[in-house]
Order: sequence, then structure tokens, then C-alpha cells
Amino acid sequence: MDRVGEACARSAIHRGDQPMVVAVTKTASPDQIRTLVEMGHVDLAENRVQHLIQREAQLAEFLNRKRTLGRAAQEDPQRQYEVRWHMVGHLQRNKVKPVIPLVKLIHSVDSLRLAEEIQAVAMKSDQVVDVLLQVNMSGEAGKHGVAAPAAQHLAEQIDTMMHLRMRGLMTMAPICDDPETSRPVFSRTAEIFEDVRKDRIGGDHFNILSMGMSADFEVAIEEGANLVRIGRALFGET
Ligand SMILES: *Cc1c(COP(=O)(O)O)cnc(C)c1O
Repeated sequence: MDRVGEACARSAIHRGDQPMVVAVTKTASPDQIRTLVEMGHVDLAENRVQHLIQREAQLAEFLNRKRTLGRAAQEDPQRQYEVRWHMVGHLQRNKVKPVIPLVKLIHSVDSLRLAEEIQAVAMKSDQVVDVLLQVNMSGEAGKHGVAAPAAQHLAEQIDTMMHLRMRGLMTMAPICDDPETSRPVFSRTAEIFEDVRKDRIGGDHFNILSMGMSADFEVAIEEGANLVRIGRALFGET
């Protein structure tokens, strides 16, 4: 959090608003996750549907136990131990259904077909799902995400769907030893973010720019990220 705060202070873009830290739990032990939540951390993420389902269920059981014990001990009833799960990895259309009830935000919408599937599932359960559009800014083949020139148009299409709320953009920089390599990827994504916002696509809800991981989150924050997804820097390598 100190490193996030320092990067934020270096960048005039944030005007003192701290970026949101989402803890990516794919290398975490169940114990580490519980400790983090007990310390008051709220936002957690997984990049695979199967892991998301398992982690969510494990933690929900733990939190239910804690709430029951808390009530018995007449703990402060405000202490709810809420958590919010984020889906940050590639989402296949046939996995949309189990994911929707579990997550607060899907970071990885990258095609019209996926958006349409989310719309169909959310309509049945009368929900509105918050989503980010994942942009493939590095142009690497085989990487997920919509190509940068198509991003604005897809954002516009998603914005017409009643059961999706277009909340912003997400990008991943290529894995690299030098975080400075990520800077142009982040600054170009921030430009698209501003363009979409100026066009009022998503309205006031369009306010999340999700970029930066353990290796490059400080550079991402300097370039305007207001949500960072951090795994290994919190939990270690495995
Ligand atoms: C794993 C993962 C992260 C976190 O990566 P670290 O390098 O462990 O911080 C962030 N975003 C996505 C989409 C991931 O899959």
C-alpha cells in the first residue's frame, strides 16, 4: 500500500485518490487469503473460473463461521467481513453462468459474443453486471483482448446492453523484466480510456482503468491506472 501511495503521489492524474488494489489470489494459500480479509482487505481476484468457484466457496464458508462466532461474542455487528470477487482472466462463454452470481466485476470482456452471453445470462436472473473491456494494446498475437482500434466501437455496443454496465478498460502489458517497457502500453490505454469517456460511453459509470500487476503497477499508476491487480508482490511466487 505504501508503494501504491507513493506512485499515486508522483502522478498528478490521481489528485490524491488512492488506486484500488485488487489482490489476485492465484498463488495464495487459503490461510493468506483469510489473513488478508481479516485485516480488512475487500477486493480479491482469480483468473480461472474453476479457481474462482473454489476460492469463493472456501472463503464464504469461513466468513459465515466468523459472522456466527462474531454474533455469539457480540462483536460489532457492522463488522461484516464483506469481500468482492473480480474475474480477471479470459472468460469462455460457456463459463459465464456460474461466474455471474459470484463476481462484482468482470475485467476481461473482449468480444461482442461474450458480452451478448453475459447479457443473456444476466437478463434471466434480472441482474446488471459490471464489466471492463479488455484491450490488447501490445498487439501480441494469442493475447486476449480487443484490438485497440476496435475498442471504442465495442464499448459503444456493450453500452447499449441493458444488463451490462460499462465500467472501464483493462489491459495487460507483455511480461518483461523492465517495467518501463510497459509504460507505452499503459499510456496508450489511458488515452483510449479518456477518448471513450469524452464520448460519454458508459456515462458516469465509466471510471475504472485496470492496469498494472506486481512487476509494473507503479508505472501503471503513474500513467493513470486507478485499479491495480497484484498477486505475487502480496503472496509470493507460488
Ligand atoms: C495473475 C494475474 C495478475 C497478477 O499478477 P502478479 O504478477 O502475480 O501480480 C493480474 N492480472 C491478471 C489478469 C492475472 O492473471
